[in-house]
Amino acid sequence: MSYILKKILEYSEEAYGDIVEKFISEVRRKSCFEHLVSTIISQNTNWKNVRRAIENLRKILGTINPYTISSASLNDLEKALKPAGLYKVKSKWLKEVAYIIIRDFNGCLDRLKYLPVDKAREVLLKMPGVGFKTADIILCFCFSKPVLPIDTHIKRVSRRIGLTSSSSYDIIRRELEKHIDPKEVLKAHLLLILFGRNICRARNPLCKICPVNNVCPSSFLRGNDFR
Ligand code: SF4
Repeated sequence: MSYILKKILEYSEEAYGDIVEKFISEVRRKSCFEHLVSTIISQNTNWKNVRRAIENLRKILGTINPYTISSASLNDLEKALKPAGLYKVKSKWLKEVAYIIIRDFNGCLDRLKYLPVDKAREVLLKMPGVGFKTADIILCFCFSKPVLPIDTHIKRVSRRIGLTSSSSYDIIRRELEKHIDPKEVLKAHLLLILFGRNICRARNPLCKICPVNNVCPSSFLRGNDFR
């Protein structure tokens, strides 16, 4: 594993290990469909707004599953999703995705668990509102596949520490996966997000207290300027 990445993961485990463990046990309790719904809603918004939208959905649907979403009115879904923005298009996607899961998977995506990773990703990518990140979150969170979903924080950290110079989602994912134990991808995904949010921030990264500031090629201690 890359020395810098190893140091970052060790630091993050120490700093955020408890939060991550708690989050992982929540992940395990949620259904695959709920992950899919949350991830579609999370596009272009923050998790606070996603939580509000999910609470609204629970209020009107009771349980969130393909059948309740499919039979809900578009108007009700739009009202529930309003706090998360792009609510008209996201409501439409949810209804279409629910319909496909009922029609093609008998209401449950578990069948994908038995497909090879690339094939399962291909199936997910055909669904409306599902891009690479959403598909990979489902593969990693729900089916424990050795896939590391890349979000904006992970992309930034990987580029800054010199692990990749690419902007391509898939190239960054493959590069990072070479360095991570396939059984630890979910944990590494969460630790790197927290490191990016708290230390290697988009603006004003905390290079001064960063555990890799003596080796990171982007450290502002080396004269780089993030303003
Ligand atoms: S030294 Fe600065 S740029 Fe490099 S990883 Fe740490 S916070 Fe990010």
